[in-house]
Amino acid sequence: MRRRERLAALEQIANEVRDCTGCRLHEGRTRAVPGEGDPDTEVVFVGEGPGMNEDREGRPFVGRAGGLLVRLLGSIGWQREDVFITNVVKCRPPDNRDPQPDEIAACAPFLRRQLAVLDPAVVVTLGRYSMGTFMPGARIGQVHGTARPADPETGARDALVFAMYHPAAALRTASIERESFDDVARVPETLVRSRERREGTGPEAAGPPASTAGPAAEPASPTTTTSTAFPATTAVDEPASTTATPSPAFVPADPAADDASQLTMF
Ligand code: URA
Repeated sequence: MRRRERLAALEQIANEVRDCTGCRLHEGRTRAVPGEGDPDTEVVFVGEGPGMNEDREGRPFVGRAGGLLVRLLGSIGWQREDVFITNVVKCRPPDNRDPQPDEIAACAPFLRRQLAVLDPAVVVTLGRYSMGTFMPGARIGQVHGTARPADPETGARDALVFAMYHPAAALRTASIERESFDDVARVPETLVRSRERREGTGPEAAGPPASTAGPAAEPASPTTTTSTAFPATTAVDEPASTTATPSPAFVPADPAADDASQLTMF
């Protein structure tokens, strides 16, 4: 799919989200929060649901948790515009309560369709509710900082899912904040691994797509510590540079790259 087609497909989903009355959460919303970001990104961050600020602005992660998310991204040299950010539920639960299972189920087709359009290499889950969508049965204390193949049923047809604590939890507890910075430092190497799987070049490339009940969480490769992959456009026909000034370090991913040293690094 070309960038323009992705944009149109994402906008169509966003319009449906804004009109949605599929669960009780629409009753209390000011604005629905479909999600936003680079339509050609390789990395999608999935949070829980909008809070007060997000509900006002109609944009994800614009409050304090969003501030920390931006700092976490900054620690690996990324900006929020480089990725796509969305949530499992697109309308604010009253008083910021946890989303309920029927609300998550009602909203799931939107997330599934967003992921199908974006076809990310990495899905980063933020918090328990997002993790529960991609790693059912997992415990955040055990799987944070680890990756496993996504079930294609989630819409992410060939991705690694990487679990992180929710930034709001990190804001409450200093040790979780420290762990979150450690965890996010593994996202770039997870992106490199996922590219290799997708291109059929890495050691994991031969494996079949995993089901939800797939392999136990595996630590992100601890050996790759020096290189930082940058989420890059996959559109070879329409460069992303038409909408934004790329980072000076930005190099579009080479789909023909056959080893990690040729991948997008800085
Ligand atoms: N918390 C979330 O999970 N998502 C947001 O968009 C904001 C805060």
